Amino acid sequence: MDKNKIWSEFLKIIKNNVSEVAYQTWFTPFYIHEIDEDSSIIYLSTKDTVVINFIPRYLSMCEETFEKILNKKYKVIAKLENEYENRESARKISVRKTFGDENIFNPRMNFSNFVVGNNNKLAFAASLAVAESPSEAYNPLFLYGGSGLGKTHLMQAIGIHATLNHPEINILYVSSEMFTNEFINALKENKMSKFKNKYRKVDILLIDDIQFLENKTETQEEFFHTFNSLYENNKQIVISSDRPAKKLKTLDDRLTSRFLWNMSADLQPADFETRMAILQKKAENAGLDYTDDVRDVCTFIASKITDNIRELEGTLNRVIGASNLLHEKIDLDLARRALQELVNSDENGLEPERIKNIVASYYGIRVADMDSKKRNANIAFPRQVAIYLCRQYTSLSLSKIGMIFGGRDHSTVVHSCDRIQKLEYKDNSFKEDLKILVEKINDN
Ligand code: ADP
Ligand code: MG
Repeated sequence: MDKNKIWSEFLKIIKNNVSEVAYQTWFTPFYIHEIDEDSSIIYLSTKDTVVINFIPRYLSMCEETFEKILNKKYKVIAKLENEYENRESARKISVRKTFGDENIFNPRMNFSNFVVGNNNKLAFAASLAVAESPSEAYNPLFLYGGSGLGKTHLMQAIGIHATLNHPEINILYVSSEMFTNEFINALKENKMSKFKNKYRKVDILLIDDIQFLENKTETQEEFFHTFNSLYENNKQIVISSDRPAKKLKTLDDRLTSRFLWNMSADLQPADFETRMAILQKKAENAGLDYTDDVRDVCTFIASKITDNIRELEGTLNRVIGASNLLHEKIDLDLARRALQELVNSDENGLEPERIKNIVASYYGIRVADMDSKKRNANIAFPRQVAIYLCRQYTSLSLSKIGMIFGGRDHSTVVHSCDRIQKLEYKDNSFKEDLKILVEKINDN
C-alpha cells in the first residue's frame, strides 16, 4: 500500500471513532511524510502550527489505528512540515551566516520546538505571523518577559522561519550588547558609515534584550536612527526586553513610545501543564522514551522549578547527565539524588502542611482529620491522597510522613501510596482529581 492509500484508510477509521469536529480539526490537516520501515516509525506532517501542539493526546490512537491497517506496531511522530525541511537544511542553517558576520541561528530554537501555553500564546502567534509576513503583520513587534521565558527562542525562530521562507531577504539578529559594542568600535575606528550601512540594509532586524541600552545615551541615539530608517523603509523590526516598554525608565521616551506603535506581547511563566509539556518535549528531543519513570522525574522537576524555562531545561539535563555518568536508569530516586539541593528546599515543613490543607479543602474535610484516628472512608481516603502527594512532592522519608500524619507507621504510608497509585492508573476521573490537586499545590 502506498502512503496516500494508507492515509485514507487511516482517516476512514478515525472518522468513525472521534467526533466530526475532532476529525476535521485534528486529523485532516495531516499527511504521511514518511514511513520508516527499518525503525518502524511513521512520520506525520502538517503545516498547521496549532494542531501540532494538540496531536500528542491522539498519538496512541494513531498508533493503534496504523497497527490495525498495517498489522504491525509503528511509533508515530508528528512534526511541522518545515521541521523536516529544517532537519534537511539544519546543517545549511548552522553554517549559513545571516547578513553581517557574526551571527548564526541556533537550529534548535525553531517554532516547532517551542511549546505553546496560555503564558506565551500571543507572543508565539505574533512571532509566527511576523516570520510568515515580515513588515506586514506587526511592525514593530515588541516581546517582553522575565529571564528564561523564551524571548531569544522566539526571535531565533523568527529568523529561522523567515530564512527558510524568504531566502532572498537579509535577516540580522543581534543582542543589544553586540549592537553597542559594534557601535563603539565603529566610532573608534572611524567606520560609522560601514556600521550604518550594515544596519540600514537589513529587511528584518531582530534586536534582543533592549534593556541593555539603558543609560547608554549615544548608542540609544544611534539605535533610534536605525529604527526610524528601517521603519520608514517598511522593514521589519522585532525587539525583546526583560520588562514592558513603559518600565524601561532610562530609555529615551522617543524610543519606548515607538516600541508600542504596534504589537506588544508578553511571555509569562508557564503553568504546570505547559512545564510538563516542555519537559516531555525536551526528554524526547534528548532521545529518551517517555516512560512512567521519566514522567515521574518530569513531574518532580516541574513542581520544583516554576518560573524559568531555562532552569527547567537545565535541571532535566542534570538528571540525564547523572544517568549517563552513573549508568543508572532515569527515575525519581536518581533525580532526587542528582538534585539534592532542590529536594532540600522543602525540608522546611511548609510543604506537607500545604498539601494537607489543599487536599482537605478539596474533599471538604477538616485539616485536623488528616491526623486523626478516624477510619471512615470519607476521611481515610483524602488522608491517603494527601500522604501519597507528600510522598511524591516532598523529599520526606516514609516514617517522617507517617509521623506528620498523626504518628502513623511507615507501612501505613506505603499502603496508602500503593493504593492511590493503583487508583491513579485505573480510574480516569480520580486521575483528573489528582491533576487538579497537583495544580493547586504547584500554583500556590
Ligand atoms: P530568554 O531569552 O527569555 O531569557 P530563552 O529564549 O533563552 O529565554 O529560553 C531559555 C531556554 O528555554 C531556551 O533553551 C529555550 O529553548 C527554552 N524555552 C523557553 N520557552 C520555551 C517554550 N515555550 N518551549 C520550549 N522551550 C522553551
Ligand atoms: Mg534571551
